[in-house]
Amino acid sequence: MLLIDCPWCGPRDQREFNYGGDGTVVRPPDPSAATDEAWHDYIYIRDNPRGSHVELWQHNAGCRRWFKVRRDVVTHEMQGSAPIGRELPPKP
Ligand SMILES: [Zn+2]
Repeated sequence: MLLIDCPWCGPRDQREFNYGGDGTVVRPPDPSAATDEAWHDYIYIRDNPRGSHVELWQHNAGCRRWFKVRRDVVTHEMQGSAPIGRELPPKP
């Protein structure tokens, strides 16, 4: 079980949160001009490296806000969290 640190509510049990996916994916800047390949890559293509990932999580059983988490997907170590639009702490 994970202990996730909501930037507003503090550390809480994983069961209070929804996972929102990769936190590094960027939507095509001009959606009407984006190619099918650009949409395909945005929707389906993800990197899956060992180690530290940036993820989106929502505190659905608390403040309901979305935020970013840096987590090691091998050890499940939580390495920091931050509101969207703010910098995460650097990788350890
Ligand atoms: Zn919260």
